[in-house]
Amino acid sequence: MRFETRAIHDGQEPDPLTGAVTVPVYQTSTFRQDGIGRPRGYEYSRTDNPTRRALETALASLEGGSHGLAFASGVAATSAVLSLLRPGDRVLAGDDLYGGTYRLFERHFRPWGLRIDYAPAEDSEAFLSALTDDTRLVWLETPTNPLLRLADIAAVSEAAHRCGARVAVDNTFASPWLQRPLELGADLVVHSSTKYLGGHSDLIGGAVVVTDPELHRKLKWHQNAVGAVPGPWDCWLALRGLKTLALRMEAHCRNAQRVADFLAAHPAVERVHYPGLPDHPQHALAGRQMRGFGGMVSAELAGGFPAVERFVGALRLFFLAESLGGVESLVCHPARMTHAAIPPSERRRRGIGEGLVRLSVGIEHADDLIADLDQALAAAGGGPTTGRSAKGDAT
Ligand SMILES: *Cc1c(COP(=O)(O)O)cnc(C)c1O
Repeated sequence: MRFETRAIHDGQEPDPLTGAVTVPVYQTSTFRQDGIGRPRGYEYSRTDNPTRRALETALASLEGGSHGLAFASGVAATSAVLSLLRPGDRVLAGDDLYGGTYRLFERHFRPWGLRIDYAPAEDSEAFLSALTDDTRLVWLETPTNPLLRLADIAAVSEAAHRCGARVAVDNTFASPWLQRPLELGADLVVHSSTKYLGGHSDLIGGAVVVTDPELHRKLKWHQNAVGAVPGPWDCWLALRGLKTLALRMEAHCRNAQRVADFLAAHPAVERVHYPGLPDHPQHALAGRQMRGFGGMVSAELAGGFPAVERFVGALRLFFLAESLGGVESLVCHPARMTHAAIPPSERRRRGIGEGLVRLSVGIEHADDLIADLDQALAAAGGGPTTGRSAKGDAT
């Protein structure tokens, strides 16, 4: 069956008791057993819950894996994958990562004993030369956050496997509708289902999908032992979101392309980062590896931070907020919001400047989004004295 059909049916048989066509929210902590040692398939909801199992089955199907695991958040999912390693193990990660992932790596797992190195994953040659025989795990995000660079999943996976390393791909920005890392050779797919999978900015969740049953067994053990599981209601919301993933992603991609084209032609914008633009350094790779170019667009405003402040203050439809992947459009300033945990010198080295804004382009009408950006850019370019100087004087 095709993706759209599986999104609605896999793991989601009508309820055997009542015929309900949506999976019920099994809001229960425990399950009555028929006798000692005779449960009916569920014992305790940290270990397993029918609503969660439905979500995990659907996620595995959409990512083309055999096993899915749902977590309480994307960082809990990331943490579960890193916990497969032992102190002393080496991790090689791309150097343009979600800020919370970087924080988890540097402030939790490095003190815990992992050796973690970073290399630019969009530069296959440099990245592969940083791959050593003692590397146990390669961590990729593609497209990356916030600069939307791409890593070649197939090439990295092949080289990593030769070194005996496993490859995990954070597929949050693409979603399985646009990109399926397991089919390209990766071993683990990680998600923040808070973003496109849920799709409506109404839940926090995470997921890991794998093919290897042994990996699944270890992760399942960890999920139960550490206990960062989502509640049934959040699982139900994520399942509901999944059903329209294909439709939403098509709309996100269409709108983002229009927004990127508009920004690229605007004089107040210095540079636009979007894989769908022909001048994007991995435009060709995006065409091979992804079904579409995604809903995220980053742009550097010519006027630096003062222009950014005026721009976000003037936007009406794009809400200033962290997060992404919901139906509504959002704008954020990575340097001071999502990536504030990264030291300033490191941020600058990575190209996350003070003039950079990141847009999560929603599924409103593209004409309205472009009109909003147009008026906000006009306000941003409105000279150094508009509004801003009064605020500056006060501080
Ligand atoms: C948001 C995000 C995460 C973390 O997920 P949470 O659900 O916020 O814990 C990880 N990776 C990427 C790419 C993200 O955007």
